Amino acid sequence: MSLIEIRDLVREYVIGGQVIRALNGVNLTIERGEFVAIMGPSGSGKSTMMNMIGCLDVPTSGRYVLDGYDVSALSEDQLAELRNQKIGFVFQNFNLLLRMTALENVELPMLYAGVPPRERRDRAMEALERVGLKDRMHNRPNELSGGQQQRVSIARALVNHPVLLLADEPTGALDSRTTEDILGLFEELHEQGNTIVLVTHEPDVGQRAKRIVRFRDGRVEADEWMGADLGTA
Ligand code: ADP
Ligand code: ADP
Repeated sequence: MSLIEIRDLVREYVIGGQVIRALNGVNLTIERGEFVAIMGPSGSGKSTMMNMIGCLDVPTSGRYVLDGYDVSALSEDQLAELRNQKIGFVFQNFNLLLRMTALENVELPMLYAGVPPRERRDRAMEALERVGLKDRMHNRPNELSGGQQQRVSIARALVNHPVLLLADEPTGALDSRTTEDILGLFEELHEQGNTIVLVTHEPDVGQRAKRIVRFRDGRVEADEWMGADLGTA
């Protein structure tokens, strides 16, 4: 069973009686351990696809199965639970709580999951160590650089051991050197076995993934495996 199976997926929006097909029959399979970039021009459906894969939205028609769960059959509450259990989100603007330390930010998802305090602390420290930020754990976001803040947000995304790391323009707010840094971290996490899907419009960022899925007009226009990974998927 693949981690992600998407078949004939359609997402329509109705505005003022007019129907817009943001996704128009998407087929996509992603295996565990893949590192995939979703690319495409503005308006091609990337954000809508991101919302679908992230279980923030459900299809108008078609099928999405995540880790064996048929997403289109779930209620709002079940969707929220599936999101919390399965997916770690990374955003362009980090979405950290500014009044909390790095450690407290990383503890948050476990607070919601009901993990006891001692274990929360241990696991948050371990996650910060994995992203190379253990020595900054008592700092607040405004005492950290953009790259460090993104590392905290990646630690937060990883701390509940999600089956999928889903990143929306994760380097969009970073300079080129820091972008390089964060992409290196994604590569490391991929090598450790994490499944990563990142949405980006930046070609240099997309090139670092092992597979590029290109959207146009709400459809998959091209699906390319990079370099040495050719033929292994
Ligand atoms: P991208 O992220 O590639 O720019 P989007 O998924 O945001 O593409 O948009 C795809 C199409 O769907 C566009 O025509 C956009 O205007 C439309 N769209 C996206 N979200 C909504 C929405 N919430 N309501 C109405 N139309 C939307
Ligand atoms: P991004 O910068 O990630 O591509 P967008 O600017 O496409 O995001 O969309 C931002 C938000 O507005 C999203 O929630 C999207 O679903 C919504 N949206 C996008 N296009 C439209 C539209 N034409 N009408 C209404 N909402 C839209």
